[in-house]
Amino acid sequence: MQEKRLLVVGAHSADFVWRSAGVVARIIKDGGRAKVVALSYGERGESGELWKVAGQTEENVKSIRHAEAAAAAAHLGAEFEAFDLGDYPLNVGDDDVARLAELMRDFQPTIVVTHPEIDPFNPDHPVAYTTVAKARLMTSGAGVESGFKTAPPSEFLVFEPHQPELCGFLPTVFVDITDVFEQKKAAMAEMKAQQYLQSYYRERAEHRGNHARKVTGNKAIRQAEAFMRLVPNVVASL
Ligand SMILES: [Zn+2]
Repeated sequence: MQEKRLLVVGAHSADFVWRSAGVVARIIKDGGRAKVVALSYGERGESGELWKVAGQTEENVKSIRHAEAAAAAAHLGAEFEAFDLGDYPLNVGDDDVARLAELMRDFQPTIVVTHPEIDPFNPDHPVAYTTVAKARLMTSGAGVESGFKTAPPSEFLVFEPHQPELCGFLPTVFVDITDVFEQKKAAMAEMKAQQYLQSYYRERAEHRGNHARKVTGNKAIRQAEAFMRLVPNVVASL
């Protein structure tokens, strides 16, 4: 079987933790590789606690957020890379798309995961989606011989946003993260600037675990993460 190579791209440095830390740990535990890219540190829009400190600076917030995300990724065994493009608003130029496409050509992901296309509460998450979708197509072409360097087509999914119904998110895949849930909790605990999200995403994993049990009848599933496929998965038979 082909080695699984998961690439997760978030708009902000903590996004991958809440929404996909379980699957990152899962794939690595099963012998695959995972790389996490943060397009920004979320230094302005998602670091509120850090700005309560007197005399705080943007550079200091970014360095704390880098350390937190790198520590979270280390709990999962993943590589972390930050593009540091700034947030609120996240502005992505052609050169940045090209940089992500180059990273994809190097890493050769078999699975790419990012934000859904819609998010009425966040200006940066849809930008991340567009960036990833464009870079992925610059990398995979149209599945035919192309006039630029390509990588094999990858699976393409989006992770669960904070308010799924309002982001057009329909869960089509549940990943059982029961036996890596402690790693996800440890990764979430590193996100000290967003303490309030930790209980929320612990509960979300329990809810999705309940749904996954219902779908499969597998009572051993306790926690799960939800994803939505954007391209069909192709199987030899149903
Ligand atoms: Zn975010």
